[in-house]
Amino acid sequence: MRFVIIGTSAAGLAGAETARRFAPQATITLISDESHLPYSRPLLTYLLGGETTREKLFLRSPEYFRDWGFEALLGTPVTRVDPQAHEVHLADGRAIPYDRLLIASGANPRMPRIPGLELEGVFTLRHLADAERLERHLAKARRVTVVGAGAVGLKAADALSHRGLKVDLLARGAQPLSKVLDPVSARLLMEALQRLGITLHLHSWPTAVVGAGGRVTALALNDGRELPTEAVIFSVGVAPRVEFLAGTELSGPDGIPVNELMGTADPDIFAAGDCVLPRHLITGEPAAFHIWPAAVAQGEVAGANLAGAGRRYDGILPMNSLSLTGCRIITGGHLQPNTPEGEVFEELDAKTGRFKRLVFDQGRLVGATLVGEVRHAGIYFQLIAQKIPVKELPCDPRSPEFHPGRLWARPLPGAA
Ligand SMILES: Cc1cc2nc3c(=O)[nH]c(=O)nc-3n(C[C@H](O)[C@H](O)[C@H](O)COP(=O)(O)OP(=O)(O)OC[C@H]3O[C@@H](n4cnc5c(N)ncnc54)[C@H](O)[C@@H]3O)c2cc1C
Repeated sequence: MRFVIIGTSAAGLAGAETARRFAPQATITLISDESHLPYSRPLLTYLLGGETTREKLFLRSPEYFRDWGFEALLGTPVTRVDPQAHEVHLADGRAIPYDRLLIASGANPRMPRIPGLELEGVFTLRHLADAERLERHLAKARRVTVVGAGAVGLKAADALSHRGLKVDLLARGAQPLSKVLDPVSARLLMEALQRLGITLHLHSWPTAVVGAGGRVTALALNDGRELPTEAVIFSVGVAPRVEFLAGTELSGPDGIPVNELMGTADPDIFAAGDCVLPRHLITGEPAAFHIWPAAVAQGEVAGANLAGAGRRYDGILPMNSLSLTGCRIITGGHLQPNTPEGEVFEELDAKTGRFKRLVFDQGRLVGATLVGEVRHAGIYFQLIAQKIPVKELPCDPRSPEFHPGRLWARPLPGAA
């Protein structure tokens, strides 16, 4: 059997390693347009903030591909997949044949359609090459603007302020992380940003990047202001990297639709990670949500199924984990109940800024947000993922007596 995998990041590596375990004799070829050894994207903002080093980003050793018996085609863009011929076409003109293909090509940053994007000083942050380019530019900059207050934008703003830069952060809505945070958590987050000296501009977005002599000097905003800046980092969401599938039936605009085996419309092609449109764990609806652990879990399922193992993916539980200087937030599942019988439980310790918010619906925990004290997040997400009725738990998560240790005192319902 010959397996080909496009992508050498979270989903691609998990897929390759799982496929190898299930099919020790298979030929496994990994293709990436990046020439680096596999590295951690979540650590890129920590690299920017000087909290880690370039060497510590790398997830695998230089001997990795040889040790696992993988053929690696690095620095090699894929231009086209031909499902009929069972071939992957490369930019250098080669065609690589496959019996089964795993597409783990991730996503690319979206960019707004505004003038001035060609100016020196305009950045996105997705690849190690972006971080390295930004690093060189920052040596000459004192004032930076981050456009977009989602998780990556917030982490980037934190990292830049950590290294002493004056940071402006633009949020399109009334608060940062507007899709995933309730008002109380958002207020705690905004207070943390203020303590960090980050200037948050709400209801703000750029209409043009302004420059002089080919370099960025300011950002024109929707309200008519001109915000002086020496660099702009756009972090306004991502789009699946599926351009090489043009002309096939495999992908839609929000990603590659997959079934519970991570299989696509073609029985010999599987897909995993940020490029797919999986199902939501709780609602069962398609949900594009881009996080590292989900890419790994999907990659493992897809990798096993390359080898015909028939493994199933339960669905994605959307969650965000944000660790900013002086503020930790974990949130996952539903922000609000879906039915009128639902209930939201909130507990705020105003002195410490600790906050717990639990969302219940149809007798089950369906969402949780923890600010400040996040130690027990894992147990809440287990309860959400396993859909265990609260009345079957030894103690109610709303009770002051609740402690994860009480759950472990006797086996969870359904546990072997
Ligand atoms: C700055 C930053 C911080 C983040 N922080 C977090 C975090 O704290 N927690 C979290 O859970 N997630 C975080 N994420 C998201 C996380 O990194 C992604 O969900 C994860 O990387 C997805 O993995 P993937 O394997 O699907 O795709 P990717 O990591 O995007 O990898 C895709 C791979 O495919 C290759 N590829 C794509 N197209 C082609 C082509 N045409 N030809 C050849 N090769 C191709 C790429 O080179 C790459 O190897 C962060 C992301 C960024 C950018």
